[in-house]
Amino acid sequence: MLTQQQLDRAVGTVIASAAGDALGAPYEFHAPVLPPTPITLHAGGPWELGEWTDDTSMAVPILQAVARGRGLDDSTTLAGIVGEWIGWCRSAKDVGIQTKAVLAGIRHVTEEDARTAARAVHDRNGRSGGNGSLMRTGPVALGYLGDGQADAAAAAARRVSELTHFEVDAGDACAVWSLAIRSAILDGTLELRTAVDTLPVERASVWHGRLDAAEAALPWELPDNNGWVVAALQAAWSAITHGSSLREVLELAVRAGNDTDTVAAIAGSLAGAVFGASELPDEWVSALHGWPADEFRSFGAAELTDLALKAVGAP
Ligand SMILES: [Mg+2]
Repeated sequence: MLTQQQLDRAVGTVIASAAGDALGAPYEFHAPVLPPTPITLHAGGPWELGEWTDDTSMAVPILQAVARGRGLDDSTTLAGIVGEWIGWCRSAKDVGIQTKAVLAGIRHVTEEDARTAARAVHDRNGRSGGNGSLMRTGPVALGYLGDGQADAAAAAARRVSELTHFEVDAGDACAVWSLAIRSAILDGTLELRTAVDTLPVERASVWHGRLDAAEAALPWELPDNNGWVVAALQAAWSAITHGSSLREVLELAVRAGNDTDTVAAIAGSLAGAVFGASELPDEWVSALHGWPADEFRSFGAAELTDLALKAVGAP
């Protein structure tokens, strides 16, 4: 049984990620926004006030699968998630370039076909380290909070990442971020360095160096190529290590510029697990909405909360 604080942190990983996504959406592809200019939740581009983007939309099918009690180590479950993504992609306002190419290359909706399509995109472009799998990894940890399930959480995060992202950096990023989310929910602590130490020693050394660089700079001082999973993780980590509240972390993440919604969604998934959903400003939470909402069905913070609680087996 999880405590009330643990439940708040489990919900926080989902809601704070969605809030970061919606907060960053109107700032996407813009230059960094430096203090004291305020960061505000507002409509912009194709996005309504409080509307989340592809980051949260792609996390929803993962969250729904975990809420139904499905293991993410199961090919049928993963095929179901891929099928949901393909359906979402048809009507989505915005889909990441790499993800769109992979989803378009899937012939049969199976895990194997998704992995093959991901590999093909990698071979065609010579790289596949976009930030599009890290941005949706938050819900993975919710299915693996039990004693001794850390290794399974990391493996599941990597396997879900590999449905669209072949490159090892993307899998590493999802594995370590999900491990950190898991320990944050369980213990309220920030353990990304410990998570990095679970990687093979050479990979761990590379990632520690990347985290060192992130901690030494504010988000807007980092290179703005944060469509790359490594730079996105670094910007999110800089925001987390420099922010003293959940609100400040998300604002700092958005200040990074360029892929603001994704950096803030990534930062929110871990920071929300540290601070808990109750630390989010009410006016942000109440405005949240997005796919799978349509003219017949609303879908916002209440629905995400309900799914997150189901995902962790709360009564
Ligand atoms: Mg987005």
